[in-house]
Amino acid sequence: MQHFPIFLDLEARRVVLSGGGEAALAKLRLLLKTRAKISVFTPAPAPEIVEWAAAGRVTLHRRAIAAGDALCAVLVYAADEDEALDARTARIGRAEGALVNIVDNLADSAFITPAIVDRDPVTVAIGTEGAAPVLARKIKAELEERLPAALGPLARIGKGFRKMAEHLPFGRARRAFWAEYYFQAGPRAMDQGGEDAAQAALDDLLARHLSASPAAGRVDFVGAGPGDPELLTLKARKALDAADVVIHDRLVGPGILELARREALMIDAGKHGFGTAMAQDEINALIVAHARAGAHVVRLKGGDPMIFGRLDEEIDAVVAQGLPHAIVPGITAAAAACASLGQSLTKRGRNSQIRFLTGHDTRGFADHDWRALATPGEVTAIYMGKRAARFIQGRLLMHGGAPETPVTVVENASHPDQRVLETTLARMEPDMEQAALSGPALTFIGLAPRRAPAALPVPNQIQEAR
Ligand code: SAH
Repeated sequence: MQHFPIFLDLEARRVVLSGGGEAALAKLRLLLKTRAKISVFTPAPAPEIVEWAAAGRVTLHRRAIAAGDALCAVLVYAADEDEALDARTARIGRAEGALVNIVDNLADSAFITPAIVDRDPVTVAIGTEGAAPVLARKIKAELEERLPAALGPLARIGKGFRKMAEHLPFGRARRAFWAEYYFQAGPRAMDQGGEDAAQAALDDLLARHLSASPAAGRVDFVGAGPGDPELLTLKARKALDAADVVIHDRLVGPGILELARREALMIDAGKHGFGTAMAQDEINALIVAHARAGAHVVRLKGGDPMIFGRLDEEIDAVVAQGLPHAIVPGITAAAAACASLGQSLTKRGRNSQIRFLTGHDTRGFADHDWRALATPGEVTAIYMGKRAARFIQGRLLMHGGAPETPVTVVENASHPDQRVLETTLARMEPDMEQAALSGPALTFIGLAPRRAPAALPVPNQIQEAR
Protein backbone atom coordinates (compact mmCIF):
# COMPACT_ATOMS: atom_id res chain seq x y z
CA MET A 1 0.00 0.00 0.00
CA GLN A 2 1.76 3.15 -1.16
CA HIS A 3 -1.07 5.51 -0.20
CA PHE A 4 -2.54 5.20 3.27
CA PRO A 5 -6.25 6.03 3.39
CA ILE A 6 -7.31 8.44 6.12
CA PHE A 7 -10.25 10.82 6.59
CA LEU A 8 -9.03 14.38 7.04
CA ASP A 9 -10.94 16.85 9.23
CA LEU A 10 -11.40 19.90 7.01
CA GLU A 11 -13.76 21.75 9.33
CA ALA A 12 -12.71 25.44 9.04
CA ARG A 13 -9.36 24.44 7.48
CA ARG A 14 -7.95 26.21 4.50
CA VAL A 15 -7.86 24.49 1.11
CA VAL A 16 -6.34 26.26 -1.88
CA LEU A 17 -7.02 25.43 -5.49
CA SER A 18 -5.44 26.90 -8.59
CA GLY A 19 -7.44 26.53 -11.78
CA GLY A 20 -10.76 27.52 -13.31
CA GLY A 21 -11.60 24.80 -15.85
CA GLU A 22 -13.05 21.31 -15.87
CA ALA A 23 -10.46 19.71 -13.57
CA ALA A 24 -10.88 22.52 -11.07
CA LEU A 25 -14.67 22.13 -11.16
CA ALA A 26 -14.49 18.39 -10.55
CA LYS A 27 -12.30 18.84 -7.47
CA LEU A 28 -14.34 21.78 -6.17
CA ARG A 29 -17.58 19.78 -6.37
CA LEU A 30 -16.01 17.27 -4.02
CA LEU A 31 -14.43 19.86 -1.73
CA LEU A 32 -17.73 21.71 -1.43
CA LYS A 33 -19.14 18.69 0.38
CA THR A 34 -16.82 19.56 3.27
CA ARG A 35 -16.79 22.60 5.53
CA ALA A 36 -13.33 23.69 4.44
CA LYS A 37 -12.51 27.33 3.69
CA ILE A 38 -11.79 27.11 -0.01
CA SER A 39 -9.75 29.70 -1.91
CA VAL A 40 -9.65 29.53 -5.69
CA PHE A 41 -6.98 31.28 -7.74
CA THR A 42 -7.64 31.75 -11.45
CA PRO A 43 -7.80 34.62 -13.91
CA ALA A 44 -10.46 32.71 -15.88
CA PRO A 45 -13.06 31.10 -13.59
CA ALA A 46 -15.82 28.88 -15.02
CA PRO A 47 -19.33 30.35 -14.42
CA GLU A 48 -20.00 27.81 -11.63
CA ILE A 49 -17.02 29.08 -9.68
CA VAL A 50 -18.27 32.65 -10.03
CA GLU A 51 -21.67 31.52 -8.70
CA TRP A 52 -20.11 29.66 -5.75
CA ALA A 53 -18.07 32.77 -4.96
CA ALA A 54 -21.18 34.95 -5.10
CA ALA A 55 -22.92 32.52 -2.72
CA GLY A 56 -19.98 32.73 -0.32
CA ARG A 57 -19.06 29.08 -0.73
CA VAL A 58 -15.56 29.78 -2.07
CA THR A 59 -13.28 32.80 -2.04
CA LEU A 60 -12.34 33.67 -5.61
CA HIS A 61 -9.11 35.51 -6.50
CA ARG A 62 -9.13 36.44 -10.18
CA ARG A 63 -5.39 36.12 -10.65
CA ALA A 64 -2.70 33.47 -10.76
CA ILE A 65 -1.60 31.96 -7.47
CA ALA A 66 1.51 33.59 -5.97
CA ALA A 67 3.92 33.00 -3.10
CA GLY A 68 2.16 33.48 0.23
CA ASP A 69 -1.26 32.37 -1.11
CA ALA A 70 -0.98 28.87 0.37
CA LEU A 71 -0.01 29.94 3.88
CA CYS A 72 -1.90 27.94 6.52
CA ALA A 73 -3.49 25.73 3.84
CA VAL A 74 -3.63 22.00 4.62
CA LEU A 75 -4.22 21.00 1.01
CA VAL A 76 -3.29 22.61 -2.26
CA TYR A 77 -4.72 21.44 -5.56
CA ALA A 78 -2.86 22.30 -8.76
CA ALA A 79 -5.70 22.04 -11.26
CA ASP A 80 -4.76 24.30 -14.16
CA GLU A 81 -4.18 21.31 -16.45
CA ASP A 82 -0.96 22.98 -17.59
CA GLU A 83 2.32 21.37 -16.70
CA ALA A 84 4.29 24.56 -16.05
CA LEU A 85 1.49 26.30 -14.14
CA ASP A 86 0.78 23.21 -12.05
CA ALA A 87 4.46 22.75 -11.22
CA ARG A 88 4.57 26.35 -10.05
CA THR A 89 1.44 25.93 -7.89
CA ALA A 90 2.92 22.77 -6.42
CA ARG A 91 6.18 24.53 -5.56
CA ILE A 92 4.30 27.31 -3.76
CA GLY A 93 2.12 24.81 -1.91
CA ARG A 94 5.03 22.66 -0.77
CA ALA A 95 7.11 25.67 0.28
CA GLU A 96 4.22 26.87 2.43
CA GLY A 97 3.78 23.53 4.14
CA ALA A 98 0.68 22.12 2.47
CA LEU A 99 0.10 18.66 1.01
CA VAL A 100 -0.08 19.09 -2.74
CA ASN A 101 -2.11 17.28 -5.35
CA ILE A 102 -1.47 17.86 -9.02
CA VAL A 103 -4.49 16.71 -10.97
CA ASP A 104 -3.66 13.70 -13.13
CA ASN A 105 -0.05 13.63 -11.96
CA LEU A 106 0.30 10.83 -9.47
CA ALA A 107 4.10 10.89 -9.32
CA ASP A 108 4.37 14.51 -8.16
CA SER A 109 1.37 14.47 -5.81
CA ALA A 110 1.65 13.97 -2.08
CA PHE A 111 -1.88 12.56 -1.91
CA ILE A 112 -4.62 11.40 -4.24
CA THR A 113 -8.33 12.03 -4.11
CA PRO A 114 -10.23 8.73 -4.05
CA ALA A 115 -13.48 7.92 -5.78
CA ILE A 116 -16.12 8.70 -3.17
CA VAL A 117 -19.49 7.20 -2.34
CA ASP A 118 -21.22 9.81 -0.26
CA ARG A 119 -23.87 8.86 2.26
CA ASP A 120 -22.71 11.47 4.72
CA PRO A 121 -21.79 10.72 7.49
CA VAL A 122 -21.03 7.36 5.88
CA THR A 123 -18.31 7.91 3.31
CA VAL A 124 -16.67 5.21 1.25
CA ALA A 125 -13.35 6.10 -0.35
CA ILE A 126 -12.03 3.90 -3.16
CA GLY A 127 -8.45 4.04 -4.33
CA THR A 128 -6.43 1.98 -6.77
CA GLU A 129 -3.09 3.86 -6.40
CA GLY A 130 -3.85 5.24 -9.85
CA ALA A 131 -3.58 1.74 -11.34
CA ALA A 132 -7.13 1.29 -12.57
CA PRO A 133 -9.54 4.23 -12.50
CA VAL A 134 -12.00 2.03 -14.43
CA LEU A 135 -12.04 -0.39 -11.53
CA ALA A 136 -12.61 2.38 -8.99
CA ARG A 137 -15.53 3.70 -11.05
CA LYS A 138 -17.08 0.24 -11.29
CA ILE A 139 -16.77 -0.38 -7.55
CA LYS A 140 -18.23 3.06 -6.91
CA ALA A 141 -21.18 2.37 -9.21
CA GLU A 142 -21.86 -0.95 -7.48
CA LEU A 143 -21.73 0.60 -4.03
CA GLU A 144 -23.95 3.48 -5.12
CA GLU A 145 -26.53 0.89 -6.10
CA ARG A 146 -26.12 -1.21 -2.99
CA LEU A 147 -26.17 1.48 -0.31
CA PRO A 148 -29.67 2.89 0.15
CA ALA A 149 -29.99 6.65 -0.12
CA ALA A 150 -31.52 6.67 3.38
CA LEU A 151 -28.27 5.39 4.85
CA GLY A 152 -26.96 8.93 5.30
CA PRO A 153 -29.90 10.25 7.35
CA LEU A 154 -30.11 6.96 9.27
CA ALA A 155 -26.46 7.24 10.27
CA ARG A 156 -26.85 10.92 11.15
CA ILE A 157 -29.83 10.17 13.40
CA GLY A 158 -28.00 7.18 14.85
CA LYS A 159 -24.95 9.28 15.61
CA GLY A 160 -27.06 11.67 17.67
CA PHE A 161 -28.35 8.71 19.68
CA ARG A 162 -25.02 7.18 20.60
CA LYS A 163 -24.99 8.64 24.11
CA MET A 164 -28.44 7.17 24.81
CA ALA A 165 -27.37 3.77 23.52
CA GLU A 166 -24.63 3.73 26.15
CA HIS A 167 -27.33 2.68 28.60
CA LEU A 168 -26.92 -0.75 27.05
CA PRO A 169 -23.91 -2.78 28.15
CA PHE A 170 -20.86 -2.42 25.92
CA GLY A 171 -20.27 -5.23 23.42
CA ARG A 172 -22.83 -7.63 22.12
CA ALA A 173 -25.93 -5.99 23.57
CA ARG A 174 -25.07 -2.62 22.09
CA ARG A 175 -24.10 -4.17 18.77
CA ALA A 176 -27.39 -6.05 18.55
CA PHE A 177 -29.23 -2.78 19.16
CA TRP A 178 -27.39 -0.95 16.38
CA ALA A 179 -27.68 -3.86 13.98
CA GLU A 180 -31.44 -3.92 14.43
CA TYR A 181 -31.62 -0.16 13.94
CA TYR A 182 -29.51 0.00 10.80
CA PHE A 183 -30.76 -3.12 9.09
CA GLN A 184 -34.37 -3.49 10.20
CA ALA A 185 -36.16 -0.96 12.39
CA GLY A 186 -34.41 2.12 10.95
CA PRO A 187 -34.98 1.54 7.22
CA ARG A 188 -38.56 0.40 7.92
CA ALA A 189 -39.37 3.53 9.91
CA MET A 190 -37.67 5.73 7.33
CA ASP A 191 -39.78 4.22 4.56
CA GLN A 192 -42.98 4.69 6.48
CA GLY A 193 -42.52 8.08 8.13
CA GLY A 194 -39.18 9.61 7.21
CA GLU A 195 -36.65 10.99 9.66
CA ASP A 196 -39.14 11.64 12.48
CA ALA A 197 -40.22 8.02 12.40
CA ALA A 198 -36.61 6.84 12.43
CA GLN A 199 -35.96 8.99 15.48
CA ALA A 200 -39.01 7.53 17.24
CA ALA A 201 -37.98 4.00 16.25
CA LEU A 202 -34.71 4.49 18.15
CA ASP A 203 -36.55 5.31 21.38
CA ASP A 204 -38.83 2.25 21.05
CA LEU A 205 -35.93 0.01 20.15
CA LEU A 206 -33.83 1.15 23.10
CA ALA A 207 -36.69 0.54 25.52
CA ARG A 208 -37.13 -2.96 24.14
CA HIS A 209 -33.44 -3.81 24.24
CA LEU A 210 -33.06 -2.44 27.78
CA SER A 211 -35.81 -4.70 29.06
CA ALA A 212 -34.49 -7.81 27.25
CA SER A 213 -32.47 -10.28 29.28
CA PRO A 214 -28.73 -10.24 28.62
CA ALA A 215 -27.70 -12.37 25.67
CA ALA A 216 -26.09 -15.69 26.48
CA GLY A 217 -22.89 -16.73 24.79
CA ARG A 218 -22.83 -19.19 21.94
CA VAL A 219 -20.33 -21.16 19.90
CA ASP A 220 -20.26 -21.66 16.16
CA PHE A 221 -17.97 -24.39 14.86
CA VAL A 222 -17.12 -23.03 11.46
CA GLY A 223 -15.32 -24.59 8.51
CA ALA A 224 -12.81 -22.15 7.04
CA GLY A 225 -12.30 -24.19 3.88
CA PRO A 226 -8.94 -25.16 2.39
CA GLY A 227 -7.40 -21.68 2.36
CA ASP A 228 -8.79 -19.61 -0.50
CA PRO A 229 -11.04 -16.99 1.18
CA GLU A 230 -13.46 -17.30 -1.74
CA LEU A 231 -14.11 -20.88 -0.72
CA LEU A 232 -15.70 -19.76 2.54
CA THR A 233 -19.44 -20.29 2.78
CA LEU A 234 -21.73 -17.30 3.22
CA LYS A 235 -22.61 -18.65 6.65
CA ALA A 236 -18.95 -18.75 7.61
CA ARG A 237 -18.57 -15.14 6.53
CA LYS A 238 -21.62 -14.11 8.52
CA ALA A 239 -20.34 -15.91 11.61
CA LEU A 240 -16.95 -14.17 11.27
CA ASP A 241 -18.73 -10.89 10.89
CA ALA A 242 -20.64 -11.39 14.13
CA ALA A 243 -17.95 -13.03 16.27
CA ASP A 244 -16.71 -11.53 19.53
CA VAL A 245 -13.97 -14.12 19.78
CA VAL A 246 -12.37 -16.17 16.99
CA ILE A 247 -10.35 -19.21 18.01
CA HIS A 248 -8.62 -20.55 14.94
CA ASP A 249 -6.32 -23.32 13.79
CA ARG A 250 -2.84 -22.94 12.42
CA LEU A 251 -4.20 -23.92 9.00
CA VAL A 252 -6.42 -20.84 8.76
CA GLY A 253 -4.54 -18.11 6.91
CA PRO A 254 -4.51 -14.32 7.20
CA GLY A 255 -6.75 -13.81 4.13
CA ILE A 256 -9.60 -15.44 6.03
CA LEU A 257 -8.84 -14.02 9.47
CA GLU A 258 -8.98 -10.56 7.96
CA LEU A 259 -12.70 -11.08 7.39
CA ALA A 260 -13.43 -11.24 11.11
CA ARG A 261 -14.99 -8.26 12.82
CA ARG A 262 -12.28 -5.75 13.56
CA GLU A 263 -13.01 -5.68 17.28
CA ALA A 264 -13.05 -9.49 17.58
CA LEU A 265 -10.48 -11.08 19.87
CA MET A 266 -8.35 -13.39 17.70
CA ILE A 267 -6.79 -16.42 19.34
CA ASP A 268 -4.42 -18.76 17.51
CA ALA A 269 -5.06 -22.19 19.00
CA GLY A 270 -2.24 -23.54 16.86
CA LYS A 271 0.16 -21.57 19.01
CA HIS A 272 1.10 -21.28 22.59
CA GLY A 273 3.48 -18.83 24.17
CA PHE A 274 6.64 -20.36 22.74
CA GLY A 275 5.47 -21.85 19.48
CA THR A 276 4.06 -25.11 20.84
CA ALA A 277 0.49 -26.04 19.96
CA MET A 278 -2.25 -25.67 22.56
CA ALA A 279 -3.49 -28.93 24.05
CA GLN A 280 -7.03 -29.95 23.15
CA ASP A 281 -8.16 -29.55 26.78
CA GLU A 282 -6.88 -26.01 26.82
CA ILE A 283 -8.74 -25.21 23.62
CA ASN A 284 -11.96 -26.69 25.02
CA ALA A 285 -11.54 -24.63 28.18
CA LEU A 286 -10.89 -21.48 26.20
CA ILE A 287 -14.00 -21.90 24.05
CA VAL A 288 -16.17 -22.56 27.08
CA ALA A 289 -14.71 -19.68 29.14
CA HIS A 290 -15.42 -17.11 26.46
CA ALA A 291 -18.90 -18.40 25.67
CA ARG A 292 -19.81 -18.49 29.36
CA ALA A 293 -18.75 -14.87 29.63
CA GLY A 294 -21.44 -14.10 27.05
CA ALA A 295 -19.29 -13.97 23.92
CA HIS A 296 -20.24 -15.22 20.48
CA VAL A 297 -17.34 -17.57 19.90
CA VAL A 298 -16.40 -18.72 16.42
CA ARG A 299 -14.25 -21.81 16.51
CA LEU A 300 -12.68 -21.65 13.07
CA LYS A 301 -11.25 -24.87 11.71
CA GLY A 302 -9.41 -25.52 8.47
CA GLY A 303 -11.41 -27.29 5.77
CA ASP A 304 -14.55 -28.90 7.13
CA PRO A 305 -14.82 -28.95 10.92
CA MET A 306 -16.28 -32.46 10.84
CA ILE A 307 -13.32 -34.09 9.16
CA PHE A 308 -10.29 -34.87 11.31
CA GLY A 309 -10.99 -31.78 13.37
CA ARG A 310 -11.56 -33.17 16.89
CA LEU A 311 -14.93 -31.48 16.72
CA ASP A 312 -16.76 -33.87 19.02
CA GLU A 313 -14.48 -33.19 21.94
CA GLU A 314 -15.15 -29.49 21.62
CA ILE A 315 -18.90 -29.96 21.20
CA ASP A 316 -18.99 -32.19 24.28
CA ALA A 317 -17.28 -29.47 26.31
CA VAL A 318 -19.75 -26.85 25.08
CA VAL A 319 -22.82 -29.03 25.59
CA ALA A 320 -21.67 -29.96 29.10
CA GLN A 321 -22.01 -26.28 29.98
CA GLY A 322 -25.47 -26.02 28.41
CA LEU A 323 -24.20 -23.50 25.85
CA PRO A 324 -25.94 -23.25 22.48
CA HIS A 325 -23.87 -24.17 19.45
CA ALA A 326 -24.10 -24.67 15.70
CA ILE A 327 -21.93 -26.27 13.04
CA VAL A 328 -21.16 -24.52 9.77
CA PRO A 329 -19.69 -27.05 7.35
CA GLY A 330 -16.83 -26.09 5.08
CA ILE A 331 -15.06 -27.29 1.96
CA THR A 332 -12.71 -30.04 2.94
CA ALA A 333 -9.13 -30.27 1.65
CA ALA A 334 -9.92 -33.40 -0.41
CA ALA A 335 -12.64 -31.55 -2.34
CA ALA A 336 -10.38 -28.58 -3.11
CA ALA A 337 -7.42 -30.83 -3.98
CA CYS A 338 -9.57 -32.96 -6.27
CA ALA A 339 -10.96 -29.89 -8.02
CA SER A 340 -7.39 -28.77 -8.78
CA LEU A 341 -6.81 -32.07 -10.59
CA GLY A 342 -9.86 -31.52 -12.80
CA GLN A 343 -11.21 -34.81 -11.50
CA SER A 344 -14.19 -35.86 -9.46
CA LEU A 345 -13.99 -37.87 -6.27
CA THR A 346 -16.35 -40.56 -7.50
CA LYS A 347 -16.88 -41.73 -11.06
CA ARG A 348 -19.28 -44.13 -12.68
CA GLY A 349 -17.51 -47.32 -13.55
CA ARG A 350 -14.37 -46.39 -11.60
CA ASN A 351 -15.15 -45.98 -7.92
CA SER A 352 -18.52 -45.96 -6.22
CA GLN A 353 -17.03 -45.04 -2.91
CA ILE A 354 -14.37 -42.68 -1.65
CA ARG A 355 -12.46 -43.05 1.59
CA PHE A 356 -11.07 -40.23 3.68
CA LEU A 357 -8.22 -41.57 5.81
CA THR A 358 -5.82 -40.10 8.28
CA GLY A 359 -2.17 -41.09 8.08
CA HIS A 360 -1.97 -40.70 11.86
CA ASP A 361 -4.15 -41.59 14.78
CA THR A 362 -3.67 -41.44 18.52
CA ARG A 363 -1.40 -44.49 18.42
CA GLY A 364 0.89 -43.31 15.59
CA PHE A 365 0.65 -44.37 11.95
CA ALA A 366 -2.97 -45.37 11.45
CA ASP A 367 -3.93 -48.87 10.39
CA HIS A 368 -6.61 -49.44 7.76
CA ASP A 369 -8.22 -52.12 5.65
CA TRP A 370 -5.20 -52.14 3.31
CA ARG A 371 -6.50 -54.98 1.13
CA ALA A 372 -9.66 -53.02 0.30
CA LEU A 373 -7.68 -49.84 -0.31
CA ALA A 374 -5.31 -51.69 -2.66
CA THR A 375 -8.15 -52.86 -4.92
CA PRO A 376 -7.80 -51.43 -8.46
CA GLY A 377 -10.11 -48.49 -9.14
CA GLU A 378 -10.51 -47.48 -5.50
CA VAL A 379 -9.88 -43.84 -4.63
CA THR A 380 -8.56 -42.82 -1.24
CA ALA A 381 -7.87 -39.34 0.10
CA ILE A 382 -5.25 -39.34 2.83
CA TYR A 383 -5.07 -36.48 5.30
CA MET A 384 -1.96 -35.93 7.41
CA GLY A 385 -0.18 -38.47 5.23
CA LYS A 386 3.23 -36.89 4.67
CA ARG A 387 5.18 -38.54 7.44
CA ALA A 388 3.31 -41.82 7.01
CA ALA A 389 4.05 -41.98 3.26
CA ARG A 390 6.56 -44.85 3.46
CA PHE A 391 4.33 -46.81 5.86
CA ILE A 392 1.24 -46.40 3.66
CA GLN A 393 3.16 -47.30 0.52
CA GLY A 394 4.60 -50.43 2.16
CA ARG A 395 1.23 -51.60 3.46
CA LEU A 396 -0.52 -51.10 0.13
CA LEU A 397 2.16 -52.91 -1.88
CA MET A 398 2.21 -55.70 0.68
CA HIS A 399 -1.57 -56.14 0.30
CA GLY A 400 -1.47 -56.43 -3.47
CA GLY A 401 -1.60 -52.81 -4.61
CA ALA A 402 -0.34 -52.46 -8.20
CA PRO A 403 2.97 -50.54 -8.33
CA GLU A 404 1.63 -48.42 -11.21
CA THR A 405 -1.44 -47.25 -9.21
CA PRO A 406 -1.55 -43.47 -9.66
CA VAL A 407 -0.72 -41.39 -6.60
CA THR A 408 -1.18 -37.62 -6.58
CA VAL A 409 -0.19 -35.28 -3.80
CA VAL A 410 -1.66 -31.77 -3.65
CA GLU A 411 0.17 -29.39 -1.38
CA ASN A 412 -1.48 -26.13 -0.26
CA ALA A 413 -4.66 -26.88 -2.21
CA SER A 414 -6.48 -23.69 -3.27
CA HIS A 415 -3.60 -21.46 -2.11
CA PRO A 416 -1.65 -19.39 -4.64
CA ASP A 417 1.41 -21.59 -3.97
CA GLN A 418 -0.43 -24.87 -4.58
CA ARG A 419 1.77 -27.68 -5.96
CA VAL A 420 0.77 -30.97 -7.52
CA LEU A 421 3.06 -33.98 -7.36
CA GLU A 422 2.12 -36.77 -9.73
CA THR A 423 3.62 -40.19 -9.09
CA THR A 424 2.81 -43.87 -8.64
CA LEU A 425 2.51 -46.23 -5.72
CA ALA A 426 5.95 -47.65 -6.56
CA ARG A 427 7.63 -44.24 -6.45
CA MET A 428 5.44 -42.52 -3.94
CA GLU A 429 7.83 -42.39 -1.01
CA PRO A 430 11.04 -41.26 -2.72
CA ASP A 431 9.12 -38.74 -4.83
CA MET A 432 7.38 -37.23 -1.82
CA GLU A 433 10.65 -37.07 0.04
CA GLN A 434 12.35 -35.37 -2.87
CA ALA A 435 9.55 -32.83 -3.32
CA ALA A 436 10.25 -31.56 0.22
CA LEU A 437 6.62 -30.67 0.89
CA SER A 438 6.44 -28.01 3.57
CA GLY A 439 2.73 -27.06 3.50
CA PRO A 440 -0.37 -29.16 4.29
CA ALA A 441 -0.66 -31.89 1.69
CA LEU A 442 -3.38 -34.26 0.65
CA THR A 443 -2.48 -37.60 -0.95
CA PHE A 444 -4.78 -39.34 -3.40
CA ILE A 445 -4.28 -43.02 -4.03
CA GLY A 446 -5.89 -44.19 -7.28
CA LEU A 447 -6.36 -40.73 -8.78
CA ALA A 448 -4.23 -38.85 -11.34
CA PRO A 449 -4.80 -35.38 -12.77
CA ARG A 450 -7.19 -35.30 -15.72
CA ARG A 451 -5.33 -35.85 -18.95
CA ALA A 452 -7.50 -33.76 -21.28
CA PRO A 453 -6.60 -30.08 -21.17
CA ALA A 454 -8.44 -28.75 -18.14
CA ALA A 455 -10.20 -25.40 -18.13
CA LEU A 456 -7.39 -24.08 -15.97
CA PRO A 457 -3.83 -25.41 -16.05
CA VAL A 458 -2.79 -27.36 -12.98
CA PRO A 459 -0.34 -25.02 -11.27
CA ASN A 460 3.31 -25.89 -10.78
CA GLN A 461 3.36 -29.45 -11.95
CA ILE A 462 6.62 -30.46 -10.36
CA GLN A 463 6.93 -34.00 -11.57
CA GLU A 464 5.48 -36.07 -14.37
CA ALA A 465 4.18 -39.62 -14.01
CA ARG A 466 6.84 -42.22 -14.55
N1 SAH B 1 -10.67 -30.43 8.71
C1 SAH B 1 -9.66 -30.36 7.67
C2 SAH B 1 -8.60 -31.41 7.86
C3 SAH B 1 -7.80 -31.25 9.11
S1 SAH B 1 -6.51 -32.41 9.23
C4 SAH B 1 -10.35 -30.49 6.30
O1 SAH B 1 -11.52 -30.79 6.24
O2 SAH B 1 -9.69 -30.23 5.32
C5 SAH B 1 -5.16 -31.54 8.53
C6 SAH B 1 -4.77 -32.12 7.20
O3 SAH B 1 -5.68 -31.68 6.21
C7 SAH B 1 -3.44 -31.72 6.69
O4 SAH B 1 -2.40 -32.48 7.26
C8 SAH B 1 -3.57 -31.99 5.22
O5 SAH B 1 -3.45 -33.38 4.95
C9 SAH B 1 -5.00 -31.62 4.98
N2 SAH B 1 -5.15 -30.25 4.46
C10 SAH B 1 -5.74 -29.21 5.08
N3 SAH B 1 -5.72 -28.12 4.29
C11 SAH B 1 -5.10 -28.48 3.16
C12 SAH B 1 -4.76 -27.82 1.94
N4 SAH B 1 -5.07 -26.53 1.74
N5 SAH B 1 -4.13 -28.52 0.98
C13 SAH B 1 -3.82 -29.82 1.14
N6 SAH B 1 -4.11 -30.48 2.26
C14 SAH B 1 -4.74 -29.84 3.26
